[in-house]
Amino acid sequence: MQRKIDKFIHHYSMKSIDTFNFKGQKAIVRVDFNVPLDERFKITDDTRIRAAIPTLKKILSDGGSLIICSHLGRPKGIDGRFSLIHILPRVEELLGVHVNFANDCLRQTAADKAAALQPGQALLLENLRFYEAEEGKSRKINENTTPEEKERLKTLVKSAQKDMAKRLASYATVYVNDAFGTAHRAHASTAIIANYFDEDHKLFGYLMNAEVEAVEKILNQISRPFTAIMGGSKVSSKIDIIENLLTKVDNLIIAGGMTYTFTKALGGKIGKSIVEDDKLELATSLLNKAKEKGVNIVLAVDSKIADDFSNDAETKFVPVGEIPDDWEGLDIGPETEKIFAGIIEQSKTILWNGPVGVFEFENFSHGSFAVAEAIANATDKGAYSLIGGGDSVACINKFKLADRVSYVSTGGGALLEAIEGKELPGIKAIKG
Ligand code: AMP
Repeated sequence: MQRKIDKFIHHYSMKSIDTFNFKGQKAIVRVDFNVPLDERFKITDDTRIRAAIPTLKKILSDGGSLIICSHLGRPKGIDGRFSLIHILPRVEELLGVHVNFANDCLRQTAADKAAALQPGQALLLENLRFYEAEEGKSRKINENTTPEEKERLKTLVKSAQKDMAKRLASYATVYVNDAFGTAHRAHASTAIIANYFDEDHKLFGYLMNAEVEAVEKILNQISRPFTAIMGGSKVSSKIDIIENLLTKVDNLIIAGGMTYTFTKALGGKIGKSIVEDDKLELATSLLNKAKEKGVNIVLAVDSKIADDFSNDAETKFVPVGEIPDDWEGLDIGPETEKIFAGIIEQSKTILWNGPVGVFEFENFSHGSFAVAEAIANATDKGAYSLIGGGDSVACINKFKLADRVSYVSTGGGALLEAIEGKELPGIKAIKG
């Protein structure tokens, strides 16, 4: 195992853009500019764009030219609402140069604009997901499609995916992947495209580097004690991660909506709290596995309960397994906050995924704030802390504590799959 990891790190570090001179090169860079937009198509959070800027600037300042490509949202075809034109001004502003725009990514206009690029110039291609070939999934398949037709459509779209990757590759002399957010997908622009570049001309961007290093620290360079805080709503979406973490962590704090599936499995009364009744056995088996592996599983002891799923509901604090019938647990209580914070502040490696309460409601955000603050305090004392996988990122930003933790991941699903121990196609495509 260790040899495999060493090989990975060695191979991986050779693939970074740091030592590559882009002078005279045309780089096609896959970024993850899938940012949220409001109803007027204004960006509401530009974190993902900012995260890719160092890579893009390095290429331009070396004297290379830049072809930027990304997806945005989940269009079902060409659809102006998902056009990357909405984000062009912000990209230009952050990059500090004029960025040309191709209103397509595969047609001749895109190829011509890419061919015309001079050193130091940049081009943004239109949304890759306007084409089904990007994801390699046929949009014509529905519940009425016969098995034979399904096979035929699948074969067609896979072949179109290769053509798309080849076409995109033809615009450039070097491929850079800085889209950690889509690294868990084997799409035309995230993985297949790498087949059309030789070993020395496919590289990871800075963001990808940082993300993979963060995962490395959590999975393979652990300072102990290692505490993972798993929150969020459902156990079902976190099973694989919890299983993998049980082989790594000293303390596993299980919180958020998941609490109640565990509490019910242990015989507690949970009222109308969120629960997955078909996962009660699984919860028990995870608890048993933890015991076998000597992992300290930490569950809430008290809850802040509400008589309605609303910020303005009546509330009270009760022991976690004593929730009255018409009430539901929406946050951890003060005793639990103290217990969680105590463990977190003693830790040297910390992973946080998922809020411990319905943090979107002000009145149920205190528990998540307490966890975030404890992580920040532990980090101040020298712990390594990684926050990632969706809502915990929103939490740490909301509480303005992102600057006091070691690393906030930009990858939701990708980070989770990496922590599950899976090899990500976007990474494999480059490291071979
Ligand atoms: P996930 O996407 O599984 O990480 O879940 C995140 C969501 O879990 C957030 O929107 C939280 O509001 C929600 N959540 C956290 N704690 C609870 C709870 N006790 N009851 C219901 N939802 C919760």
